[in-house]
Amino acid sequence: MRQISNHLPTAELQALDAAHHMHPFTANEGLAKKGARIITRARGVTLTDSEGNEILDGMAGLWCVNIGYGRKELAQVAARQMEELPFYNTFFQTSHVPAIALAARLAELAPHDLNHVFFAGSGSEANDTNIRMVRHYWAMKGKPDKKVIISRKNAYHGSSMGSASLGGMAGMHAQGGMPIPDIVHIDQPHWYSEGGDMTPEEFGLERARQLEAMIEKLGEDNVAAFIAEPIQGAGGVIVPPDSYWPEVQRICDRYEILLIADEVITGFGRTGNWFGSQTYGIRPHIMTVAKGLSSGYAPIGGSIVCDEVAEVIAKDEFNHGYTYSGHPVAAAVALENLRIIEEEGVIDHVRDVAHPHLAERWHALADHPLVGETKLVGLMGSLALTPDKASRAKFAAEPGTAGYIVRERCFANNVVMRHVMDRMVIAPPLVIKPAEIDLLIERATKALDEAHAELKAEGMLKAA
Ligand SMILES: *Cc1c(COP(=O)(O)O)cnc(C)c1O
Repeated sequence: MRQISNHLPTAELQALDAAHHMHPFTANEGLAKKGARIITRARGVTLTDSEGNEILDGMAGLWCVNIGYGRKELAQVAARQMEELPFYNTFFQTSHVPAIALAARLAELAPHDLNHVFFAGSGSEANDTNIRMVRHYWAMKGKPDKKVIISRKNAYHGSSMGSASLGGMAGMHAQGGMPIPDIVHIDQPHWYSEGGDMTPEEFGLERARQLEAMIEKLGEDNVAAFIAEPIQGAGGVIVPPDSYWPEVQRICDRYEILLIADEVITGFGRTGNWFGSQTYGIRPHIMTVAKGLSSGYAPIGGSIVCDEVAEVIAKDEFNHGYTYSGHPVAAAVALENLRIIEEEGVIDHVRDVAHPHLAERWHALADHPLVGETKLVGLMGSLALTPDKASRAKFAAEPGTAGYIVRERCFANNVVMRHVMDRMVIAPPLVIKPAEIDLLIERATKALDEAHAELKAEGMLKAA
């Protein structure tokens, strides 16, 4: 039954949207012609649009709605906090209960001596904090030349000037004068498309050792930090070979540089542990968090910082902060989200129920004629589209064309799966049930079949 809801007709909403709303990462002229799909409500893993369609959200919003949609507890906590104390700052020798409680809780959850939290409003802001913090840390230690940050091509660390400079997205660097100085990029551990004839293990070592080579080239005394996502998310859910992270950790231990793990996606259960750093056995000095911290119910992010860095920074005024650092409503919502994740055993559900079930179904998609490989860690997965499975070939058509077609077929079949060039990615809410996973796979398979037929009909199943 179509739900009646109290809003303007879709066409009018689309016209207003086209006239006044500038969408992120969008060619707005093209979207204006087509009309945006308007999402009006959501519950669990299911979105409803303004036409009454029910869409299975295979992306948890933007990798963030870990506990699923429609949890009243979070709405109630937000309302209560707004009544009690909607805002106060933490700049001028003041603090408030939600920021205190959330910082203490994050210190408890984060591994080893990551005991200190600098709050931000988003992942981008938190990574900007990290740039300034690691450079200031070394300056405070009498090493002001240690300021280069090494990152990776095709990394995603946010969209502000600093965080997008950390990121390795060529398309972003091409607009607006990036990267900012003293940020360099090494190659990503993306075996499927860059591994050539190497085994994944050999390739993982080769890519990790680029970090060592870069440190040697720049001189250890000029390098502040290495930043990386445990698993690249926006880059296409690139799961590194098993050999990669242990070798990176060895290098970080050998040289005097800081390791920043950007856990904005991998944090809060996504990989089957609280943090991706635990899944990969790495020991970062700083973790970036956002997204799943509040399950997207309120904008909040932060840097979780180890004792040593926090103690050095604490000796002097750190001239940095955001009006909304530790915003009380966002912090209260995040705390309630963390309570739900813990008390409802959401991470056990990922590990024991959702991951094993999805893994069986997801990896079976590798038999599809369009699919070259499938990857899944916890509840973040990807599949490579290819015109020729045996050779891991890329399409002759412009990169991203096939991916876009699959994504469009997904949307038409009421499932959200995103494409990154010619790779499809999923990251459903962590609370997804086995029957919902079956539905996701059923719709994704139908979309792949339809896309395959379309590509074939258009003569696009040709290898580059
Ligand atoms: C989304 C994302 C960010 C940026 O977070 P925003 O809240 O969008 O600023 C940073 N790092 C990673 C790994 C992300 O996925």
